[in-house]
Amino acid sequence: MNVKELFDLSAKVALVTGGSRGLGLEIAQGLGEAGAAVAITARREQWLVSAEAELEAQHIQCLALTCDVSQPSQVEGAIAATVERFGRIDILVNNAGISWAEPALTMSLEKWRSVLETNVTGCFLMSQAAGRAMMLAGRGGVIINIASIAGLVGTSPEVLDAIGYSASKGALISLTRDLAVKWARHGIRVNAIAPGFFDTRLTTHVLERSRSDIEQSTPMGRIGRPGELKGVALFLASPASDYVTGQVLAVDGGATAR
Ligand code: NDP
Repeated sequence: MNVKELFDLSAKVALVTGGSRGLGLEIAQGLGEAGAAVAITARREQWLVSAEAELEAQHIQCLALTCDVSQPSQVEGAIAATVERFGRIDILVNNAGISWAEPALTMSLEKWRSVLETNVTGCFLMSQAAGRAMMLAGRGGVIINIASIAGLVGTSPEVLDAIGYSASKGALISLTRDLAVKWARHGIRVNAIAPGFFDTRLTTHVLERSRSDIEQSTPMGRIGRPGELKGVALFLASPASDYVTGQVLAVDGGATAR
């Protein structure tokens, strides 16, 4: 294969959870630009509708589905709808995620549980449902989990005080490595991306408060820019990374390199 073929996703089908805005939408666009048909999911219609229109305006084949990743029946429904519409599923991006900021000492059990349910259980349920479909089809597949540098290193409470979020992202990294080992024999590669800080709805408050601290502690001196994740996701989704599994790729301007 030449290099263009290595990064080509023509005839492939991807599902990106939380694809209605932010990093998920950028990743959906990247996979679509490389030729994949893309299903995007989120809980709320309001952003899904505009995301679908944006992708279709780029001539990307798109299916928008409401689905709460923490609800098993909705997860099964989303995978079934994707396979029904496009005939297959080759790539799953577990990107849906939430956070709750509160000091560890006073973090409520309810908030802890809701973050873990979406970020970890959601990823597990989606991987299970997509994995079944991939194994049934016998063509292998790719799973990409969107973790965070908060799953790799501790963060000072002045910058990010979200213990459940950090724990959930650490769990995603372990899940990535273990599933990669378990499913390698089925031709399913499982990798994670650990982004540093990017400007999205999720980080609005953190960046308002701590942007300059974050920039100062980042070797490249800035947060991530729009467009800096989709190429990384494409690499992990495409044949370019056919011998890569169980890895965590930090996209963080060097923040975790020191
Ligand atoms: P956004 O809040 O902009 O997007 C989150 C997406 O997830 C939305 O589409 C949201 O839609 C969806 N979502 C949330 N909960 C659920 C659920 N239970 N079921 C289905 N979909 C859900 O955040 P980002 O784009 O920043 O975050 C995307 C991912 O990247 C997250 O996993 C986040 O942890 C990770 N990340 C982000 C970083 C950043 O700096 N922005 C840094 C490191 C990691 P809806 O609310 O309608 O359900």
